[in-house]
Amino acid sequence: MSDDTAALRPETLAVHPPRVPVTGSTPLGVPLHQGHVFSFDSADAMADAFDSPGTFVYSRLGNPTVRTLEDAVARLEGGAAALSYASGMGAINGLLLGLLSAGDHLIAQRCLYGGTYALLTDLAARRGVGVTYVSGTDPEEVRRALRPETRLLYLETIANPTTRVCDLPALIAVAAEAGVPSAVDNTFASPLLCRPIEHGADVVIHSATKYLSGHADVLGGVAVFADAGLYDRIRHYAVEQGAVTDPFAAWLTLRGLQTMPLRVERQCATAADLAGRLAAHPAVATVRHPALAGHPDHAVARRLLPRGGGGVVSFDLAGGREAGRAFVEAVRLAALTASLGDVKTLVMHPASTSHRQLDAAALDAAGIGQGTVRMSVGVEHVDDLWADLEQALARTP
Ligand SMILES: *Cc1c(COP(=O)(O)O)cnc(C)c1O
Repeated sequence: MSDDTAALRPETLAVHPPRVPVTGSTPLGVPLHQGHVFSFDSADAMADAFDSPGTFVYSRLGNPTVRTLEDAVARLEGGAAALSYASGMGAINGLLLGLLSAGDHLIAQRCLYGGTYALLTDLAARRGVGVTYVSGTDPEEVRRALRPETRLLYLETIANPTTRVCDLPALIAVAAEAGVPSAVDNTFASPLLCRPIEHGADVVIHSATKYLSGHADVLGGVAVFADAGLYDRIRHYAVEQGAVTDPFAAWLTLRGLQTMPLRVERQCATAADLAGRLAAHPAVATVRHPALAGHPDHAVARRLLPRGGGGVVSFDLAGGREAGRAFVEAVRLAALTASLGDVKTLVMHPASTSHRQLDAAALDAAGIGQGTVRMSVGVEHVDDLWADLEQALARTP
């Protein structure tokens, strides 16, 4: 627009405010580019932009604030590039629907995030994608499950709510030998504790809603790609899928991401401390945290998660189902919620909520008890948290 604004009427001036360029300095915080569309000075520049991912045209195809988040998470995970989505499920959908066609086959870990399990069930029932489940602890099981049409191995670093740790390098190597790529949902570990690409993964998934953002104020998902070829293919589908991140959500996630290493370091230390104290309490039958020497995957965790076993602890109350439900109501500092990875400590009772579809036998097979409580440890002082857990245990039947 020309500088000659004197002749313009209020209606025009109102929608054409002057732009204040930032020159000679750089904003320290990441700028929020909330706008969904970008303008050009020439028809040629606009035409060129459609073929150049580095030039922004329309925010479903790319946005500077969202790209900043994608690049930040790609670097944290040691990947070539990343795609950001409106939620973790958006990212998982984007990967699976972008990659798989009818007749393809996928191998997945049995104890998966509930939403992912529902999506795989749907892919099998309505889209003709075959799914074989494996335990996640035995590479030979993966070898036996491989078929000529297998297109993906799908794993989770730390399983929910059992805290089982998947032997990523062993399982991924078997798939890679057969030319099958692997994807790892690394939400529970965060890139501070584990970088699955270093263990051979081709794609890393995050629900950014959890540890990456960390403050219970935003939904988001990210898929990080080890190489640019698969990224290009999934990006093509992502533009059609349209489950992109709103720039403000990306900005909030970037804000939280800055303290992710500090939060996760503290959460791991507090979780390990509380796991030890819970294990010694008479009302608690079993405690699961990868840092405990008695954890079934303790050796794998020491190798894969040397910086800490994560912020999630689950434990079984000796009093069973009623005790589990009473406990989550009896805590005062910890909040009864369905999420995790927050600065606040959160608890839930899986058997009556996230895993309510499972009958007693299926719960047992999944390693979840009727009295299991899942606790996502926050950044509060460990003694304040222990006082809360103790008073809640004292009031639990
Ligand atoms: C929460 C979660 C998801 C789904 O993420 P949303 O952001 O809620 O869509 C996927 N995987 C794991 C391990 C999760 O904890």
